[in-house]
Amino acid sequence: MNRRGFVVAASAALFCRARPAWSGEGRVATVVGTTAVVCKLARAVLPAGVQLVQILPTGFDPERFTPRPGDLPLMASGDLLLRAGAGFDDWAMTLARRVQRADLAASSIDLSKNVPLLEVKGRAVEASDGHAHGAANPHWWLDPVNAKSAVASIAAAILATDPTREGELSSRLDSFNAALDGALLRWSAALAPYANRPVLAYHNSFPYLARRFRLDIAATVEAREGVSPGPARLAEIASIARTRNVRLLLVEQADPGELTPALTRAASLIPVPLPSNGETEGDSYVAMMDALVTRLADAFAKSDEILRQGGDALP
Ligand SMILES: [Zn+2]
Repeated sequence: MNRRGFVVAASAALFCRARPAWSGEGRVATVVGTTAVVCKLARAVLPAGVQLVQILPTGFDPERFTPRPGDLPLMASGDLLLRAGAGFDDWAMTLARRVQRADLAASSIDLSKNVPLLEVKGRAVEASDGHAHGAANPHWWLDPVNAKSAVASIAAAILATDPTREGELSSRLDSFNAALDGALLRWSAALAPYANRPVLAYHNSFPYLARRFRLDIAATVEAREGVSPGPARLAEIASIARTRNVRLLLVEQADPGELTPALTRAASLIPVPLPSNGETEGDSYVAMMDALVTRLADAFAKSDEILRQGGDALP
């Protein structure tokens, strides 16, 4: 166990208070969400008066996150745990058990369960260490249609604890779905001119986005998730960029930034930081995707303008 793990384990004892397991009876007062995106989805339908606690601070990389002692009371305070699943936030299950909330882990809602996962490699979908993709790609929320399924799962979970909330949950779910349907038309129109245009991605975060909006991910810079590319990989990526005339490099805001300048210089790429893990102001999933799509469409337009002027793609 590393030092941080030891500190977390030792601190867990402070929060191991006896708490009756939630059995589906009684209202949920506090919902714990693992990531910023999970919490944005939850806020779309959470009834008035239900508290929402976010474990992973916005801007932290969920796939490199190790829980801290300060996360223990946050987890211990919950009645219902929401997680992205597919190996993305397995640390939440460990954290729940550390605060002796096996009930919370057992009743947690895995929002990936009702979405069609991509890159499924086997029966299990959990990553072994949480620092690489498991048997499926976990970035499912970047397809807005999957977000609808996830929000419906959250509403169903709350409804199961409190049937008196059915009207409120149903109304909020309808509002979210209507807003998302309208936004999806807007996003599809914004990205339609760039369908099948090859782009590069630093991390393998964007297959769901690419499938929904017909983007062509020519290659990912990381040959394996979480492993920084060496010189040979960078040369290979630069070669792909030149051969396929790729202009844009999609990066997550949590990606390590030190390699981006060398890579963009070698292949004349424009880096496009996207708020793919919810790094936007406010509580809204639709606003997050608005920002992401706008940034991407603007980058395509900018690269086209640079080409029209006969210049280098570098900003
Ligand atoms: Zn990932």
